[in-house]
Amino acid sequence: MKKKNVLKSNYPYLPQLKEKPSELRQDMVSQDWVVIATGRARRPHFFKSQTRTKFSLPKSKCPFDNLKQAGNPEPIAIYKAPHGQNWFIQVLPNKFPAFSYGVCPVVKKSGPYSWLEGVGFHEVIVTKDHDRQIAKFSDEEMNLVLRAYQERYLALKNDPCTEYVLIFHNHGFEAGASIPHPHSQLVGMPVAPPDVVNSLRGSQRYLKQHKACVHCAMIKWELKFKKRIVAENDTAVAFCPFASRRAFEIRVFPKNHSSHFELISEKERLGFAQVLRKALKSLFGGLNDPAYNFFIHTTPTKQKDRHYHWHLEILPVTSTWGGVEFGTGIEISTITPEEAAKYLRKF
Ligand SMILES: [Zn+2]
Ligand SMILES: [Zn+2]
Repeated sequence: MKKKNVLKSNYPYLPQLKEKPSELRQDMVSQDWVVIATGRARRPHFFKSQTRTKFSLPKSKCPFDNLKQAGNPEPIAIYKAPHGQNWFIQVLPNKFPAFSYGVCPVVKKSGPYSWLEGVGFHEVIVTKDHDRQIAKFSDEEMNLVLRAYQERYLALKNDPCTEYVLIFHNHGFEAGASIPHPHSQLVGMPVAPPDVVNSLRGSQRYLKQHKACVHCAMIKWELKFKKRIVAENDTAVAFCPFASRRAFEIRVFPKNHSSHFELISEKERLGFAQVLRKALKSLFGGLNDPAYNFFIHTTPTKQKDRHYHWHLEILPVTSTWGGVEFGTGIEISTITPEEAAKYLRKF
């Protein structure tokens, strides 16, 4: 007999809705649940017309157009434009770092609490053009950005104090960008972050049960199912995950199993750059330049295990957290990932 969760006497007059307003989906890696609002799902155009905070800064006041005058430290690396003599990317130490270089910290106690000094690295990866966001880049330019990520990662991964190197990019005010001039950031931190630990644990759990990579299984399914694919080529694929935490979430994967981002080959990097650029372009066109964050999840620097499948996650800011999200950690996506991907493929 099917269980009913509410005594009928509580709701004697309420008819049972045939179509439920939402469904819960479980992420096969983290095993976290998300809510997909199917019944009251929004149309794609709702997201396109969401109002965004105007976020601009005149070039004359931009710290990345006036690198020296703004008191930025000397660049760590400079990359020239693919077909020019001018610089295209400069990597600088962050003037206001979250972590700074020093002696490897040890865990200290404060009563029942534990704490560590914020030792690590914090770099900014600045692209030259004040107004040209990376969704507008060519494949070659996107590839150069990924090359800068890779080379800085390789330079820092053997630091004895660093447990994890996070590479991320914030675009737009709602996504927490502090300066509108396009830039990415790289943070080396002395602990492995909880989201990465969870994802690794999920990958390990699946490996134990199925003797296979959880992300390879997901990619294989998505390539066959096709409905959530946003972009793909020979080497990479972008899709809206089955258990999307947010409307229009996209994840980009190398198609072949690869555990460490920094070991990507030149050919794979170019293929990945093409798919990433296409995904960002479709968000730009489809949602009218939304704010977003993207970041790379990869095997932590000191781990030699090869079961994890590195990838890049793009989270457009299409909603804000309310009581449900803060109270449960469960996010509500107000469009299905199938509908989101179908719409994004048009741009
Ligand atoms: Zn600028
Ligand atoms: Zn894999």
